[in-house]
Amino acid sequence: MSQPSPLRSDPVGPVRVAPVTPLTQYVLKLTSRCDLACDHCYVYEHPDQSWRGQPRVMTPATVETAARRIAEHAVAHRLDAVRVVLHGGEPLLAGVARVAATAGTLRRVIEPVARLDLRMQSNGLLLTPAMGDVLVAHDVKVGISLDGDRAANDLHRRHVNGTSSHAQVLRALTLLRRPAYRSVYAGILCTVDLANDPIGVYEALLAEEPPRIDFLLPHANWDRPPVRPEGVPTPYADWLLTIHRRWLADGRPVPIRLLESLLDGATATEAVGLGPADLVVIETDGSFEQVDSLKSAFHGAAATGLDVFRHEVDDAAAHPGIAVRQIGLAGLSATCQSCPVVGRCGGGLFAHRYRSGSGFDNPSVYCADLAQLVRSTATTSARVPSGPADTLSRTVLDDLGVGAGAEESVRHLASVHLGVVRALVVALSPTAAEDPLAAAGWALLVDLDVDAPDAVRTVLGHPFVRHWAQRCRTGASADLTYLANVAAAAAVHAGVDAQLAVAARDGVIHLPTLGAITLGVDVEAADLSVARGSIEVRAGGRRVRVRPTAPDGPVEWRPVRSVDGAVLLEDTDPYRDCFDLPVAPRLTPQETTRWRDQLRLALRRVDDHAPDYAPGLRTLLRAVVPLRPDPTGRSRSAAARTAFGAVAVTPAADAEALAVLLVHEVQHLKLDAILDVCDLFDRADPRTLRVPWRTDPRPVEGALHGVYAHLAVADVWRRRSDPTAQGHYRQYRDWTDGAIDALLDLETLTPAGDRFVRHMRATVDLWP
Ligand code: SF4
Repeated sequence: MSQPSPLRSDPVGPVRVAPVTPLTQYVLKLTSRCDLACDHCYVYEHPDQSWRGQPRVMTPATVETAARRIAEHAVAHRLDAVRVVLHGGEPLLAGVARVAATAGTLRRVIEPVARLDLRMQSNGLLLTPAMGDVLVAHDVKVGISLDGDRAANDLHRRHVNGTSSHAQVLRALTLLRRPAYRSVYAGILCTVDLANDPIGVYEALLAEEPPRIDFLLPHANWDRPPVRPEGVPTPYADWLLTIHRRWLADGRPVPIRLLESLLDGATATEAVGLGPADLVVIETDGSFEQVDSLKSAFHGAAATGLDVFRHEVDDAAAHPGIAVRQIGLAGLSATCQSCPVVGRCGGGLFAHRYRSGSGFDNPSVYCADLAQLVRSTATTSARVPSGPADTLSRTVLDDLGVGAGAEESVRHLASVHLGVVRALVVALSPTAAEDPLAAAGWALLVDLDVDAPDAVRTVLGHPFVRHWAQRCRTGASADLTYLANVAAAAAVHAGVDAQLAVAARDGVIHLPTLGAITLGVDVEAADLSVARGSIEVRAGGRRVRVRPTAPDGPVEWRPVRSVDGAVLLEDTDPYRDCFDLPVAPRLTPQETTRWRDQLRLALRRVDDHAPDYAPGLRTLLRAVVPLRPDPTGRSRSAAARTAFGAVAVTPAADAEALAVLLVHEVQHLKLDAILDVCDLFDRADPRTLRVPWRTDPRPVEGALHGVYAHLAVADVWRRRSDPTAQGHYRQYRDWTDGAIDALLDLETLTPAGDRFVRHMRATVDLWP
């Protein structure tokens, strides 16, 4: 049965429904006035006009009392951490001294009992260096509201006299990007408007380099439905999905909260998901209110009749209007309860469900859009994106088709590939939730993705993390608990303290990108803690402590070694067995020196003999995996689609030979990454074709790979003048030439594939 949920103000006092779910998030209304007059604002422009009776600024006594209530609630419920968001109106209108005093009071009263995550949501107009210094001093992370470029922002976010606020907002964002203030830059909040071009908005927001973006659907309900163009059933979903596609194609360069919540279902927000809405508002006069967005429903909708002077936070948590949003599925309408996507959607934002007569006992007024968003984002995340050619821009694809591709294009390809890895890892999260190790790893990774995104990128960009994730997805023997090791490695890179249980394999703990710790006891898991730059593991009575930055540690520590810090010489990662050839075991110190010297020299040879390819190769190549020598003495090399950025090679005859192998294999990596996101040929076409370098007919994909790699190898030999090199050049050029014709003749290429191959043709045609 759905809960009755028409809410009302209750002036007589609290109505307790047991048990109380503790509240961990507080919106503290520092001010009740604003220096903008945005026409979509739910505080001033919607039916609830209760702000008119509020004091302009919260007094120090109210701040002190509110802080004590929050602290006593944290103690009573043993909360480790609480979040307080300074809000308004516009909180910066309180002035530098009042903001400093408020933050100081909150930290003084709350921090002795719980970690305080102190934030502010602001329009940024009054964000001066002096105010920035206060925010840094008290570690108040600030989110700025911006709706896109100037034209987009000016649609709603204007001064009371109608003038633009855009330049002032950009000035605030410029300030927050400065190194001195970057630590308190929390992100950008953008309200969706269908009148704005979604890609234009996305690019404008991205240009401000926010650590996080959040999109807000315009406040509306069944009495005041949102603007909808006639004949378009899900315009808001369409708008957001345009951004979603581009965001995935860009490799998810910044967390977008709404999209990530829809993708993983684990990060419930107030807008979507079934997680408890454990949030209460404290108004400037100290009264407890429900979420602000309810003000868009009716006058008094957010009121509770409670205040910090007479009531505890428990009383507010027990208020029916707050309690009903904490009981998940049971608090939703009957329609939502039986909806197949309710797990991700959660009925949408509470305020969007309101209708006169039935109160909040309805699906969201954005129901159709939400359902479409859930379905589309789930489909995209559940598989490696393939097919839609718009995930790589035409410019980048054309540039890569020439052969080398500019460094920028290769960088873009790498970022698109990172999006593929993220989608794979995200798709593991529902299964991970069922395993304690993996679940803890996932939770840590999600936190780090917010606080230290570069560290997460470093680990997810490690070639063998994708191979591990893909093996988990296909049900191979890979171990889902390794997700904890992935997260632990990210914590080490982030330089943060962390504690979690990680997976061990044959008594060894592998940390991708870092190395392996030998425990010496046969266990499947160990307790790992990262603190002050050291890693300590304990299991089966054994305790090992290592310093990951040590070049070569004790016998228990086998760090991943690198060539000048740029390319890993990977001989420890358990998931490097993704090539068709046997990998070498851990190198001895002498072997390591030989490999390092030869690789260093080979990279210089690439610079000399393949100057067009060198920048892209150095951008893309993350790891070289030594292979066991081939029994016939031949040089062998390999690349794997599931290990982007890694090349495996047997010991090469010399640096020249190794340079050619690297160029050759990196072409395969590039083409694999392109094929992840673009259909270059008809995958259902079973035909094969003859290519000059093989006696057996090849499938289209194999031929395409051969052409792309040989194009690069021909270019390497072309630049050398010795007769042997010229002989090689002619052979590879002719192979490439012949296979390009065969590919074009087969008429199996897609339009994107046809363009790609014709760019290769143009390159060959320029050669002598
Ligand atoms: S899609 Fe509609 S019916 Fe389904 S949970 Fe969301 S709001 Fe409710």
